Amino acid sequence: MESEKKVHVVLFPYMSKGHMIPMLQLARLLLSHSFNKDISVTVFTTPLNRPFVADSLSGTKATIITLPFPKNVPEIPPGVECTDKLPSISSLYVPFTRATKSMQPDFERELTSLPRVSFMVSDGFLWWTLESALKLGFPRLVFLGMNCMSPSILDSVFKNQLLSNVKSETEAVAVPEFPWIKVRKCDFVEDMFDTKPTTDPGFELILDQCASMSQSQGIIFNTFDDLEPVFIDFYKRTRELKPWALGPLCLGKHSLEDEGAEKVKSVWMKWLDEKRDKGCYVLYVAFGSQSEISREQVEEIALGLEESKVNFLWVVKGSEIGKGFEERVGERGMVVKDEWVDQRKILEHESVRGFLSHCGWNSLMESICAEVPILAFPVAAEQPLNAMLVVEELRVAERVAAASDGVVRRGEVAEKVKELMEGEKGKELRRNVEVYGKKAKKALEEGVGSSWKNLKNLINEFCNNIGT
Ligand code: UDP
Repeated sequence: MESEKKVHVVLFPYMSKGHMIPMLQLARLLLSHSFNKDISVTVFTTPLNRPFVADSLSGTKATIITLPFPKNVPEIPPGVECTDKLPSISSLYVPFTRATKSMQPDFERELTSLPRVSFMVSDGFLWWTLESALKLGFPRLVFLGMNCMSPSILDSVFKNQLLSNVKSETEAVAVPEFPWIKVRKCDFVEDMFDTKPTTDPGFELILDQCASMSQSQGIIFNTFDDLEPVFIDFYKRTRELKPWALGPLCLGKHSLEDEGAEKVKSVWMKWLDEKRDKGCYVLYVAFGSQSEISREQVEEIALGLEESKVNFLWVVKGSEIGKGFEERVGERGMVVKDEWVDQRKILEHESVRGFLSHCGWNSLMESICAEVPILAFPVAAEQPLNAMLVVEELRVAERVAAASDGVVRRGEVAEKVKELMEGEKGKELRRNVEVYGKKAKKALEEGVGSSWKNLKNLINEFCNNIGT
């Protein structure tokens, strides 16, 4: 009888850092909510992702179950179980994601041996998990780790075929549901508007994911009511899929390590301390966990940073920076190559006053929470839409402009960086981001915050009013 009253949540994140991180933060949030005595959380992952998952959940009582990742998948090198290890994310995302379906039998076998599941939250990319939930008779909520505006705009662009007959890359077209927002072809990935045969593997995958999403019992957004009320309200009014704004998930209780025990400080954190002690401000530059940036673009960013004369910390993944750069910028810049940094800690450092970002949604949320204004440099996926949200709606960011060949030139980088770090525009953005940063913290305040209450309502809705 007792176990009937317990809430048991199953989480299944997609195997990509940008998807795992917010879902694991959701796990922490569930376990630290005041219902925590009644909640247990089981997280599914694969063997090679387990250390990252276990580290992120250290000090919690979450259970981790590993399922073998499919072997001998054509095109996927052996030993790759996370998208950031793929030789090319853009060309291998589809076979990698399709392959996850082979995990379904093991997943279902494990589920049948677990205590009764109250509901499951699984990544939107893992479309086949809906079938498992239906078979075993519990609700599935879908998680995309996104804000609410980007999918709303994307939906409208597709449904209304807004850009299908537009020739120019830069012609601005108003979105009918949100007429003050204008979209351009260059805001979307290249071949999105070409008519595709329904047998195109990428298109087929999207269709499967959308179908499974629409049959789910709700969708969780990593956002909060005060951040994008217009879009959350629109989603509630117009969609059957009920939205739940539970963010910012990065503000949930951190790991034990963050709460006390000091680890050895990394060289970059020490470098930031030195800058702070000298009264210098630093621009943080990072493009997420897996961006593919051309050699030419990396070179232009490097030369722009050099020209800007600002202090900067640049976290580079898998790219070469031109010879002599580090010597030329000397003390003014630090380049961290192919290392995993604690980005949240960097953004919270007192010396960090600006963030040149690729506009992954986690990065933007972390910047807003740390009250750091942003220079938006979207690269792929829905990042240009995220950039629109922070630049045009929230006014916490400025955006770099690309030349007609799509490359952002050094002069543009230098000018916008200087403006962000030293100019009037930078001051205005800082004032705005401070307001949203405070609202973000409020959203998760125990008992009163909107996201805290939304999570309570969600648990109540799916777990038969356990908390009342
Ligand atoms: N991140 C980090 N250290 C790194 C690289 C990335 O902590 O060295 C984190 C970052 O803080 C964010 C996530 O990885 O939480 C990246 O997600 P985002 O949505 O910003 O971009 P993606 O990598 O998915 O493109």
